[in-house]
Amino acid sequence: MLSSKKWIGAFLQESRISDLVLYFRSKIWVVRGAKLSHGSYVVIDWTGLRAAAAEAAQRAYAPYSRLRVGAAGLTADGRVVTGCNVENASFGLTLCAECGLVSALHATSPSPPPGPPGPALVAVAVVAGDGDALLPCGRCRQLLLEAGGAALLVDTAGGPVPLGELLPAAFDGADLSARRGPG
Ligand SMILES: [Zn+2]
Repeated sequence: MLSSKKWIGAFLQESRISDLVLYFRSKIWVVRGAKLSHGSYVVIDWTGLRAAAAEAAQRAYAPYSRLRVGAAGLTADGRVVTGCNVENASFGLTLCAECGLVSALHATSPSPPPGPPGPALVAVAVVAGDGDALLPCGRCRQLLLEAGGAALLVDTAGGPVPLGELLPAAFDGADLSARRGPG
């Protein structure tokens, strides 16, 4: 994994423009913002994020499917976290690359601020060993939702899309609060 400092220097360009991040989607330029937790905005270099994911894919343990997968995510505090798939002979215990990414997100996080945690990821790229984009599976869309919220940008072959479009009407912690019984 690249250090966050190196990654920021190589791939991010901070902008003072208030409504930010340009990305290409379905041949239409769309303006979106990605605000870091310290208040600055960033232009997400998806090529760089894919490259980090491709590097992680080379570390995958995938002797059964032989489908290497890597995932790379940009956090709200400017770090880049990565993960790779880890298979198991039992198959059911196999971990997707996004599982490793989310684990790394928490394991490498600075001391959490007081109060409830907010969405920590702002952009995610998942690629196969060939470097082309892969969509997260259903389980990982749910996992990423809690790590980045519905606005998390997910790289696809057609360009980045908000996670909310890939996982509409999602179940989340609010459902637990609203429907929890008296005990
Ligand atoms: Zn998955």
